[in-house]
Amino acid sequence: MTLFSEPILHVALPVPLRRLFDYAFPAGFDNQVDEKVQSFSAETKFDQLVGRRVVVPFGRQTLIGVVIKADHNTDQDLSKLKAALEILDDEPTINPEQMALLEWASKYYQHPIGDVYSAAIPGALRTNKAIIDLLPKVLVKTDEFPARKELNKNAKQLLKLHDLLTEEPSTSGFSLSRANLTEREVPSTTIKKFVDNEWAQWQTAHTSEVTVTEQDLNEGLQLNTEQALAVTAINSAEHYQGFLLDGVTGSGKTEVYLQAIASRLLKQQQVLVCVPEIGLTPQTIARFQKRFNVPIALWHSAMTDKQRFETWQQCRSGTARIVIATRSGIFLPFKSLGMIIIDEEHDASFKQQDGFRYHCRSMALYRAHRLNIPVVLGSATPSLETLQNVEQNKFSLLELRQRAGGSQLPTMRLLDLNRCQSQAAIGQPLLDEISQQLKNGHQVMLFINRRGFAPVLMCEECHWLTECSRCSSFTTFHRGSGLLICHHCGFQHPTLKQCLGCGSTRLTPVGVGTEQIDLQLKELFPNVDVVRLDRDSTSKKGEFDDKLNLINQGKPMIIVGTQMIAKGHHFPNVSLVGIVDVDGALFSSDFRAPEKLAQLVVQVAGRAGRGSIKGQVWLQTKFPEHPVIQDLVNNEYRDFAKYALNERKMLKLPPYSHQIIIRAESTHNQLGHEWLAGLAHYLQDYEGLLMLGPTPAPMTRKAGKFRHMLTIQSESRPYLHKLVNWLLENLDTIQKDNRIRWTVDVDPIDV
Ligand code: ADP
Ligand code: ZN
Ligand code: ZN
Repeated sequence: MTLFSEPILHVALPVPLRRLFDYAFPAGFDNQVDEKVQSFSAETKFDQLVGRRVVVPFGRQTLIGVVIKADHNTDQDLSKLKAALEILDDEPTINPEQMALLEWASKYYQHPIGDVYSAAIPGALRTNKAIIDLLPKVLVKTDEFPARKELNKNAKQLLKLHDLLTEEPSTSGFSLSRANLTEREVPSTTIKKFVDNEWAQWQTAHTSEVTVTEQDLNEGLQLNTEQALAVTAINSAEHYQGFLLDGVTGSGKTEVYLQAIASRLLKQQQVLVCVPEIGLTPQTIARFQKRFNVPIALWHSAMTDKQRFETWQQCRSGTARIVIATRSGIFLPFKSLGMIIIDEEHDASFKQQDGFRYHCRSMALYRAHRLNIPVVLGSATPSLETLQNVEQNKFSLLELRQRAGGSQLPTMRLLDLNRCQSQAAIGQPLLDEISQQLKNGHQVMLFINRRGFAPVLMCEECHWLTECSRCSSFTTFHRGSGLLICHHCGFQHPTLKQCLGCGSTRLTPVGVGTEQIDLQLKELFPNVDVVRLDRDSTSKKGEFDDKLNLINQGKPMIIVGTQMIAKGHHFPNVSLVGIVDVDGALFSSDFRAPEKLAQLVVQVAGRAGRGSIKGQVWLQTKFPEHPVIQDLVNNEYRDFAKYALNERKMLKLPPYSHQIIIRAESTHNQLGHEWLAGLAHYLQDYEGLLMLGPTPAPMTRKAGKFRHMLTIQSESRPYLHKLVNWLLENLDTIQKDNRIRWTVDVDPIDV
């Protein structure tokens, strides 16, 4: 018997095609659907199938997809329609709220729907394992559970497990999971005996949702006036409202988040806190855990599939009350999401830079709007996009202008490298100040935005430079490992003894990287620790945490690092921060370069003087008169931002206009350019649309491929999206070329 006649499943599949795929119901469907579905009327049965995972044949493969729609319609020949193989799970994997988010994202980012869905499904569920089989199990008594006296009174382990099974269910919240049993040293043979005798059985844990009460919240700090105003404003938001919490570094933004979270928790709501990739430090997590006795779940790329599945499950069941996540956490299912916080909202790691190029912040705004809940964006250096939203009254501005806890903002100093005698990476006046601060018992931090020893090796005779054979870029010299590494494509080979141009052996490092500064400082200051924090020196498990612990002991030392030290950390004993090299960013072709530089400098500077000592920040440059440098030293970020926004407005650049970049990659030099020129041709007659390019990408050749780009810009976002959407939908008819690999980047932040 069929329950309802031949319904058709429209399925999103993880393939790079911009469409859904139709399948007939799997044979034996009746047996596979749970009773809940069977009890619904025919129409609602269709709805019940939406959001469920299905296994389907696709060419010679089988794929896992998600049912987007179930109805009686298909454009395909019914006789050729293949049947789905299996409907997994007796419940939807993607809920309707997520589906709306994903559908919007797929349209907005012009990205294939199946790929978008794939981003929202945790790795553990991209297989044909059923959710029920992945859920954690607990050991529980059966009806056959024996009386204690029936057991051999010398069988200590049996008695122990018997006692545990008798006691535990009554004590609240603790369950006999396998992990808990191991922790209590119950041997697996004992457990097996209970299961084999049917005295006990493994059962899916019913994760209970606990009610949060005042007792679960530890007391927060006494807020200052600005903080109190901010918390009050956020707490009084009953509906959608966007907030910018614009607070200088160390002004107590986190404290504001914590207190705003507390009030949502008491309303029995969940809160999602998105942080930059390197902002998810043990310190941050510890701060949340100390404040709240509620389940806090994490979500980031270093977690295993199993751990991520657990977080996913705790989110959707409502067990997890707070989720601290990196960008893809924005896809998690929630039972009762009450607020989203995006900390360091300006951070570039919120934008996915390949594949499905979404921006976590934009998705958060959409999601909050749809759920009608508040969203808080926090930063000491807000993005110009967000500042424009404040200017247009789309966001409420909450300002924290003072550092909390009594510490002062650091003073900024400029070190003109033209006036320094030697060509050393660090000018003598800065070296003198470093020794002074170390003598005073403080810590010093030196920031340099490049890892490795030197950006390139140069031949002293013919000036040949070590270049990557696959990219239009140079290979970085890593002295410790003796390798030349391309930071763009990962290509590496042992360092050269001879110049490939003239054969000379006189190859010298040019420029500096963290590795070199690290070595120089170790020589200059043999009696203090020099700790290096970059990707090369923290790649081993635990290495990063060990280094953080060492720094947190507070002993005088020098910390050398890249981006990794720029954000989030709170090292109270750092009194001096040196920014070794800023000049590269001053003359970039990227119109965002000054914004990025200003954000970086302010963030790095924010590491200085966070304790009771007043900090100082030194900026080394060969261009002390440059307006951006002058603004950074003499004025505040807000002054820089005002000036920069004005400039963008005059030039009609984002955020005063909107961009979509189409990139093309091919193994032939000119092909991409020609192909993009063909696209531009289709759009050139539309008024209000500006075509920039096609141009070669800043790195024209990467990993052996030639790269070109076409930037399409308009002051009207809907108009831009409509036209590009039309173009992409008709691409196969107007511009098909299988030698081209193309991608779309909506709201690009990197060229
Ligand atoms: P931000 O997130 O803005 O960088 P934090 O929240 O980390 O700032 O706060 C910086 C320091 O100030 C922390 O040590 C924090 O404990 C302290 N702090 C924050 N708010 C207060 C307050 N109201 N009273 C006292 N100390 C505070
Ligand atoms: Zn040479
Ligand atoms: Zn390369």
